[in-house]
Parts: sequence; structure tokens; C-alpha cells
Amino acid sequence: MNILVLGSGGREHTFAWKIAQSPLCNALYVAPGNSGTAEVATNVNIGVNDFEAIKKLVLDKQIELVVVGPEDPLVNGVHDFFLNDEAIKHVPVIGPQKKAAELEGSKEFAKEFMSRHNIPTAAYESFTKETVEQGYAFLETLNPPYVLKADGLAAGKGVVILNNLDEAKAELKSMLVGAKFGEASTKVVIEEFLDGIELSCFVLTDGSNYKILPTAKDYKRIGEGDTGLNTGGMGAVSPVPFATNEFLSKIEERVVKPTIEGFKKDKLPYVGFVFIGLIKVGDDPKVIEYNVRMGDPETEVVFPRLKNDLVEVLQAMATGTLDTIDIEIDNRAATTIMVVSGGYPEAYEKGKEITGIETIKESIPFHAGAQLKDGKVVTSGGRVISITSYGETYQEAIKKSYQSIEKLHFDKMYYRKDIGFDL
Ligand code: AMP
Repeated sequence: MNILVLGSGGREHTFAWKIAQSPLCNALYVAPGNSGTAEVATNVNIGVNDFEAIKKLVLDKQIELVVVGPEDPLVNGVHDFFLNDEAIKHVPVIGPQKKAAELEGSKEFAKEFMSRHNIPTAAYESFTKETVEQGYAFLETLNPPYVLKADGLAAGKGVVILNNLDEAKAELKSMLVGAKFGEASTKVVIEEFLDGIELSCFVLTDGSNYKILPTAKDYKRIGEGDTGLNTGGMGAVSPVPFATNEFLSKIEERVVKPTIEGFKKDKLPYVGFVFIGLIKVGDDPKVIEYNVRMGDPETEVVFPRLKNDLVEVLQAMATGTLDTIDIEIDNRAATTIMVVSGGYPEAYEKGKEITGIETIKESIPFHAGAQLKDGKVVTSGGRVISITSYGETYQEAIKKSYQSIEKLHFDKMYYRKDIGFDL
């Protein structure tokens, strides 16, 4: 089977790494890919939102399955684009159609979905420019901290949490009236602050059946002790030690089942990965958000623990036969530590040569913002490379990743030294 993966991050390198291991995979392409995907697949320099160019590639290379890594093309309707084009409608796309991708594309849509299907989440209300005064009044009824969320996609920056009421009001005004996040903050969801520890649950669905993948916990902040600015993710651990079987069954009963049932009831066409961001409040799971794709860097710890042939699983998703698949999980723990460009998530330099990758033997280096240039691997983004390791315990896996990072070098490289500190 000829397969195309869309994307260029650590997540897509992990997809490609896992797909390339399958005897069912004939030719593997990644668009646009990175220096890591180039090791296991053929990179094609096409943007993930350039649907016409993707169509041409699919026809030229006789692609038989498309796997969408990031949310952007899904929210922009890449799946619908395929279904509406006679020449490529027979090619299955793994990732929900536009209507269902709204679960990530609009916070308000996601909150309404959760309310409709009795899925536990924070209490909320949403506001527009016209109702900003009501927004202030709503903030006054809440206890701090105040959680403000731009409705649309804002590159992971659209959630602002503030302790001070006046600052929260000013932020609301800046989002709604000042269009701080452009179109994305035309609407703002204000919600109750949930106090607890976060984890992520990953679900595969063919629209009718579902399978649950291992849980993972990621570390979003740039600084040790979970301080400083939010990033795309600085590391991850799987499984999550505090997710006991009892807690996992609560997640399945209260969140996963009603979510999949909700897709059916609401006629949301969903073949793909559901990433459920959860917070454990006391002993109960509450949903913070849905993402309509795998997480990055969570994929870098979840897929290495998946024993199944990923292509078999993807085919079952595409053909509505996920019920025939038994998901098998490696009992070992997996951790990943993201190595980033100094300065990230603010301004940083690119084009720094990365050395020592080939000397890493005890871990798997998943490339993210890294590209080949004149035969060398150079930095091309904020998050550069994610070092994944297995261990009998998560502590052992973390130790291995840190040992492997010692072998890696580029100018101004940075990583958090405390991944797993709160487990
Ligand atoms: P989101 O983009 O919705 O995942 O939000 C980004 C981050 O903000 C989450 O990973 C949480 O750390 C935090 N967050 C979002 N909503 C809440 C909430 N209601 N209570 C506490 N923290 C939240």
C-alpha cells in the first residue's frame, strides 16, 4: 500500500517510523516532512493546506491512504476535499471531516457538544463583541483564577488564565474588541477554573467502533516546575502513573463512550484520532478540550508502546472494521524529552547544525523542527528533536532520555530537566 502522511513535526516522524515498520507499507511519502521522516520515507515539499498539490501527489504516486497529522488541514476540510473530488474520493483519509473537526476548531462548538451529551467539563458561557459587558458581569460571578479561551484556532496561544479580575476584564476586551487573536477571538469562552492534574487520553474511531490507546501526560510550560510560557509541549510520559484502572474506566464510561455516541447522534463524520485533554479533579475526570488528531509530543510516547501493525489499524479505521482489531500495548513505560531552540517559544534562531544524533543508541530521536541542508541536519523550528526512551519504570525511561541528550549538540539548545517531576 502506498501511504501519505501530512505534516512535518515529531508526531509525523513517529507516524512515519511506525508505518515504515509495517510489511503492508509499500511506498511511504511525507509532505512536507523533516530530516527524520527523510530517513524512513520520501519527503515531498508540499504544504499541508495545499489541497490541489496534495491531490496531484496522490494521483502521481497512486497513494491509497492519507494520514493527516496536524489539525489545520482537518479544520480546513482536507477530508471533505477528497470526498468531493471524483478523482480521489476513493482514497481514505484518516482524520475527521470539517464538521467534526470543529470540535477542535471552535471551543464553543466543543462545549456545546459536551453539554448536549452530558460529558463532564467546566461550567462556561461564551461572549462576543456585542456582549462584552455581560462577559464582565459573568467574570464577577466567578472565583479566580479566570479562564478565557479564544473560540478559534490560535496556534495554542488562545487560552489565557489570570488571577486578577481587572486583568481578566481587560483581557476579555482585548480578545473581543481588540481582536487580539484575530478571527479566532470573535467569540470567547469563559469557564470555571478546574483544579487538578492533567492527562491525555487517545481514542481511535472508525465512526462507530472505538479503541483506546495508552494515556500520556505532557509538559506544556517552557520552564522547570511548570513555569513560564506555554509551548507546544516539552516532554511526555506514558502511561500516566496516577491513572489507575478505576480512573480509566471512569474516563471510558463518562467521556469516551458518550463522545463516540455523540458523534453518531450529531452525525459528525469521524474517522480518526480523538485526543481528549482531561483534568483529574478529586477522583473524577473532566474534559478540558478535544483535539481532532494525535498530540505532539504525546505521539512520541504512545506509538512506541503500540505493538500492533499501525497500517493494519489505520486500514481498519478506514474500512469501519476497528472492532476486529485487538490493541496490544507494550508494558514498558515510554518517555520523551523535547529539545528546543534557545529562546523558544519566543524568538529563536534557526539553521544551527545538530550533531551527535547518530551516536544515540539507547533512545529513539524523533525529529521535529529539523531539516536536511547540504547533507547536514540543521534546526528549522522551535521544537527541534524529541528523545524517546523505554524503561521498566518511567523514571528509568526518563534517565535514559537524559543520558541520550548528553550526546546531542547544537548552539543554544535547551530542554527541561524535570520531566515527570509531579508524578
Ligand atoms: P486548552 O487549549 O483548552 O487545552 O487549554 C490550554 C491549557 O489551559 C490546558 O492544557 C490547561 O492547562 C489550561 N486550562 C484550560 N482550561 C482550563 C480550566 N477550565 N481550568 C484549569 N485549567 C485550564
